[in-house]
Amino acid sequence: MRLASHPGAREKRLMPAAKARPAPPSPARPLSAAEIRAFLDALAAANPAPRTELLYHDPFTLLVAVVLSAQATDASVNRATPALFAAAPTPAAMAALGAAGIGRYIRSIGLWQSKARHLAELARLLVERHGGRVPAERAALEALPGVGRKTANVVLNVAFGASTMAVDTHIFRLANRTGLAPGKTPRAVEDALIKRIPPEMLRDAHHWLILHGRYVCKARMPECWRCVAAPWCHFSPKTPAPPARPAPAPRSASSRQRA
Ligand code: SF4
Repeated sequence: MRLASHPGAREKRLMPAAKARPAPPSPARPLSAAEIRAFLDALAAANPAPRTELLYHDPFTLLVAVVLSAQATDASVNRATPALFAAAPTPAAMAALGAAGIGRYIRSIGLWQSKARHLAELARLLVERHGGRVPAERAALEALPGVGRKTANVVLNVAFGASTMAVDTHIFRLANRTGLAPGKTPRAVEDALIKRIPPEMLRDAHHWLILHGRYVCKARMPECWRCVAAPWCHFSPKTPAPPARPAPAPRSASSRQRA
């Protein structure tokens, strides 16, 4: 996703070499400004108060959870973090736990060894550079191990209320497939979304689009037949509803008696 010389390369180094990003779908014709607003209005009506699905208590535990979620599902992270956060609720406590201690809590998460090393060093640097607090500035966040642009965008959005757009695999696919913001790279899609989405919708749009991509506009087959944004989406042809399952045959009186 990022060039090796860029700070976001740290996130990329967490990716296994064999799992290259799949090619994005062919970009659709871009939506008009009115269509973008209507598309997002539909997602907003369906989910007026969108939230991240990661469990966290404060900016520090959010940062840890987002670092752990690279190349892993939120559900797998949420299974591991309650015990980790109980053992190490602060940067000082996590730094004291060290990579080996952190690793004992996160072995069920992909790439746990490199993530444990990053978290131990990240916690140490939060104490050393920031008095044990998570900085609210992009440059300071991206200077931490395991933190690239995408992670910084999530933390700035969720913990500090910034109107950022973290382009993960779901948003990258959805932006191209629907015509919301076609772009060849995650950064191009991020820039296009920030430019095209009405500013007052931008903060929540991050969650709406991730959740929509995760549960409805899925990678292999978008579930267009139940999509609230379908009237404004430029993806074509839309996926039709699957055939209804035949109703089970009624049980005969004799089989009911035998049961
Ligand atoms: S209509 Fe289909 S392709 Fe368009 S956003 Fe909805 S699920 Fe995705």
